[in-house]
Amino acid sequence: MSEFAQSVKQQADIVKIVEGYIRLRKAGAQNYSGLCPFHKEKSPSFSVHAVRQFFHCFGCGVSGDVFSFVGKIENVGFPEAVRIVAQKCGIPLPKREYSSPEEAAGARLRGKLLDLHEAAASWFEEQLRGPEGALAREYLAGRGLTPEGIKTFRIGYAPDSFNALRDRLSGVADNETLRASGLFAWKEQGDGSQGPIYDRFRKRITFPISNESGRVIAFTARALETGEKAGAKYINSPETPLYTKGLILFNLDKAKTAIRQAEFALLVEGQMDCISVYLRGIQNVIATSGTAFTEQQVAILKRHTSNVAVNFDPDTAGANAAEKSIALLTEEGFTIKIVTLEDGLDPDRYIRERGVEAYTAAVRAARRQSDYLIERARQMFPGASAEQKVKAMNFLLPHIRRMPEKLSRDQFAADAAQKLGIDSAVLREEIRHAALKRRDHIEVRTASLTEVERVLLRALAITDPEHEEARRIAVEAVTSHPATFEGLGSFPALQSLAMRGAQDPMEMVEDQAQMALLAEALMGETGPPSTDTVQGAISSLQKRKIESEIRNLRAQIAEAERRGDHIELAVLTQQKLDLDRVLRKLHG
Ligand SMILES: [Zn+2]
Repeated sequence: MSEFAQSVKQQADIVKIVEGYIRLRKAGAQNYSGLCPFHKEKSPSFSVHAVRQFFHCFGCGVSGDVFSFVGKIENVGFPEAVRIVAQKCGIPLPKREYSSPEEAAGARLRGKLLDLHEAAASWFEEQLRGPEGALAREYLAGRGLTPEGIKTFRIGYAPDSFNALRDRLSGVADNETLRASGLFAWKEQGDGSQGPIYDRFRKRITFPISNESGRVIAFTARALETGEKAGAKYINSPETPLYTKGLILFNLDKAKTAIRQAEFALLVEGQMDCISVYLRGIQNVIATSGTAFTEQQVAILKRHTSNVAVNFDPDTAGANAAEKSIALLTEEGFTIKIVTLEDGLDPDRYIRERGVEAYTAAVRAARRQSDYLIERARQMFPGASAEQKVKAMNFLLPHIRRMPEKLSRDQFAADAAQKLGIDSAVLREEIRHAALKRRDHIEVRTASLTEVERVLLRALAITDPEHEEARRIAVEAVTSHPATFEGLGSFPALQSLAMRGAQDPMEMVEDQAQMALLAEALMGETGPPSTDTVQGAISSLQKRKIESEIRNLRAQIAEAERRGDHIELAVLTQQKLDLDRVLRKLHG
């Protein structure tokens, strides 16, 4: 590890960094726990040790330090992880070092693209304030946006020009980088080559899309005019090295703190809905941008909450996207409520026309997803005929099967049968079957330690010089009588730790399974074990070892007697007497 990485690691608090991604609760004197972001689980087995600055998941076995956490969750290499952690801690970056020229080039390109997006966002903001932005300002004011709101979301205006932004940015980056940015478009020439670039967004209001750290990485742009000439109502940046559509939740950068505090996320469809609701003080709101959720988006959201209130548009397209998103959220174990607004209004209009209190009340009155779906089934298949009931049930069964928990499935199935008035035994049986079908997820826990191993691992991992004696006793025992410890599952970890000198114990154990054992021992620790405890643990192992040797000798003695080998018998008996004496001494 470079000197810079070392110093970042010393200054960073892994608990704070991890809390930037997932919710943690205090679970012990020195450790915190939460739902693992790296595997699916319903009860927290992901732990962070505040003093030793490492994490470990008892469910899937991943562990490591602050850099491995950030690297894994952001899907970046070590140097990039160091850079991210440094940035989060406000530590200035030195000249970077990368492991390969490709990595360096990729990071350089992303850095330049971020600069370009920042420049473009500021420039669009400027244009909105300028004379050309008059019509756009009027439109935004008409939608209830104040100058402060416009500033908060950095809303801007792309003027009616093919080259204004290009001219602005051509001094900042070369042509190739400008093409990679997604801010420009071009026509393919007759010979297959790329024509000159021109501004992608023209005569449009621009809404920046930011990553979780709040950096602008793309834009959505709304046409100021309607009609054939204006083109699509909304156009978006294409995917670029910065921007992958299915990975971004609009407004998560601003909403994540409020989501954790409120312990739920309010999910709306459109960016305007999201902006409007957020600016009126409901800050835990994010938008899907009109498409159904992707698995990655669900995973990202899961880091912040597992409760969602969904407020999608009441039209059919809205209902379909809502159902798809709900299906995915259900599979991932989210608790989902559905907000329905009166008179078919969308969140933006509702909150503007009825006020924030009325909207808050509607969110509070959100229905459980089972109630919502049963209601949908009744609307889609009205009437009391057996045929309609079967259709309604067929609509609901996949939703019921999708729920990960049996209890919720049973409840849902019972509600559906009751509300749809199903009295047919066959149908009831079908429903019961759907509820039974899905096996509950069983979490795999790693092998457990004995109390003796726990004590020894903790002793060998002591870093506080004040407790050095306890560590010394353990090191001495493990290095001079390794045979005593060989039978233990954690023997490799004990050996590595005994040899560590002044190094961080967490860096000594490379094997995943051994690391899991060490993590298990350390997660629950309250303080270093006393010298007596360590001595006691060692003695009990020695006793066990001698007792097993004595058992062995007894068998050999019996064998020598049977053969009538008196010399062998004398030797073995003497050995056994010696061991008996050692054992008595150990028993004190
Ligand atoms: Zn895990």
